[in-house]
Amino acid sequence: MSVKEENANEEKKSLSFVEQLVEEDLAAGKNGGRIQTRFPPEPNGYLHIGHAKAICMDFGVAEKYNGVCNLRFDDTNPSKENTEYVDNILSDISWLGFKWGNIYYASDYFQQLWDFAVWMIKQGNAYVDEQTSEQIAQQKGTPTTPGVASPYRDRPVEESLELFEKMNTPEAVEGSMVLRAKLDMANPNMHFRDPIMYRIIQTPHHRTGTTWHCYPMYDFAHGQSDYFEGVTHSICTLEFVPHRPLYDKFVDFLKEYDGTAAKGLNDFRPRQIEFNRLNLTYTVMSKRKLHTLVDEHLVNGWDDPRMPTLCGMRRRGYSPESIREFINSIGYTKFDALNDVALLEAAVRDDLNRRSCRVSAVLDPVKLVITNYPEGASEEMEAVNNPENEADGTHAITFSKNLWIERADFMEDAPKKFFRLSPGKEVRLKNAYIIKCTGCTKDAEGNVTEIQAEYDPESKSGMPGANRKVKGTLHWVSADHCVKAEVREYDRLFYVENPSADERDFHELLNPDSLHVYTNCYVENYAAGKKPGDYLQFQRIGYFMADLDSTAAHPVFNKTVGLKDTWAKLNK
Ligand code: ATP
Ligand code: MG
Repeated sequence: MSVKEENANEEKKSLSFVEQLVEEDLAAGKNGGRIQTRFPPEPNGYLHIGHAKAICMDFGVAEKYNGVCNLRFDDTNPSKENTEYVDNILSDISWLGFKWGNIYYASDYFQQLWDFAVWMIKQGNAYVDEQTSEQIAQQKGTPTTPGVASPYRDRPVEESLELFEKMNTPEAVEGSMVLRAKLDMANPNMHFRDPIMYRIIQTPHHRTGTTWHCYPMYDFAHGQSDYFEGVTHSICTLEFVPHRPLYDKFVDFLKEYDGTAAKGLNDFRPRQIEFNRLNLTYTVMSKRKLHTLVDEHLVNGWDDPRMPTLCGMRRRGYSPESIREFINSIGYTKFDALNDVALLEAAVRDDLNRRSCRVSAVLDPVKLVITNYPEGASEEMEAVNNPENEADGTHAITFSKNLWIERADFMEDAPKKFFRLSPGKEVRLKNAYIIKCTGCTKDAEGNVTEIQAEYDPESKSGMPGANRKVKGTLHWVSADHCVKAEVREYDRLFYVENPSADERDFHELLNPDSLHVYTNCYVENYAAGKKPGDYLQFQRIGYFMADLDSTAAHPVFNKTVGLKDTWAKLNK
């Protein structure tokens, strides 16, 4: 193999199978070298991390091959859709860092689809069925036994045309009639057994109001919309594999209808390609279940930081870059799997390590008094914002006689390997001095209420004793130079690894301790000024972000993720 061929092979291997198919189409000169994709959310809920996987693919392919990716709202079921969802989908996609070409709506095509459906009836390829949905379901058959034809299957074309018009009136009763394609009741592909094209819905539509009373089904809207827009690659998830022949069939009809097939001039047709859905451990992604969590107040709204929604992750402090990096690392395949949520958290941790500003916060405080430090005095120490990026600079943190440290950082009778504070032992206070513990005060129950220590004035950085080695370094805040804060710590929302596959009701699978609120925390003044969107590391604790509920008087922080993967260790 020549070096050139080897390089070409290497490059091929790094392509996803979707990109390989796209490159084959480009090489074959299909669609005049044009690449057009779409991301087609139904505006019936908020986007979650699974959607991010589809977004990265749809927008990624367009970007890579100088094409365009449009947004299309698949708004064919007014009973579940609204503009609140539309608006949030737009802001979530922008937050992830993608730019769409145009914004389209399936509802833009309602007239075109209607006209096409009428043509289908006139051609003898569609009929109105007046049976109940139960009757229709019973006649479907099984993949190995043929279905039974509806008694309305061969009704006169005029009758179907008249009834189809009736379906689109305010008087039409939901469920009383449907329009079905007349295809093949014996086809082993169940989707060909006279699929439903239209059903009656009397809920007003968020864009078209009460203009329409019956609406196209997914299978009669999606491929057609792709075709109308000129989509070349219609990339979706694996559950649509069995729909693909029907998708192609309706496109065939459409080309016959608009005359391009007869003219033989236009070889354009959108191509459906399917990849595996994202499933994450300890997470549910079904919109129905996410709706239930919100509606039953099991979480605090769609953007609750425990939700797998993009707005939830944003509020929790995940960066869009880390989500994209995670999606990229798991890749795209043709079989479904369950991905470990710890991989997502590791990507978040890696990214936040690079971008977060280091600050000091004490979540479970106990008073530490530096007895040999002058009363009322204070001094400013220099704290490096981000050791991973010098350009992020420094900020000042104030040191004084009265400090807060973590209760867990002190032990009166400490074992040998306890490198934190205990009587007679030395530790360094981060960015400040080495101190030696001299004792502690306790209340009647034996709880430590105050710790005393003496500092070594020579041990500050830049001083002669600065390089003296001590085993432990503790974080602290000055009691007179800090702000009281609330900190919300999150755990998995579900305690079982694969809640979607569990037969129990999903309410029973909820982790009862998924939220822990610390109400008595102290953060250094500099941290209290941080806003939602600022990535923070509380030193020695984890990554945090100011919550949307945060105010200057009452700062609230969300724990994004810990510094290490403690869950894996605890649950082994
Ligand atoms: P529902 O849960 O109501 O079936 P949905 O999650 O499929 O809806 P849509 O708004 O129809 O939501 O999805 C838009 C696009 O996102 C579709 O192309 C769909 O294939 C893709 N998508 C949805 N969930 C996932 C997932 N978990 N992984 C990858 N892609 C997904
Ligand atoms: Mg869907």
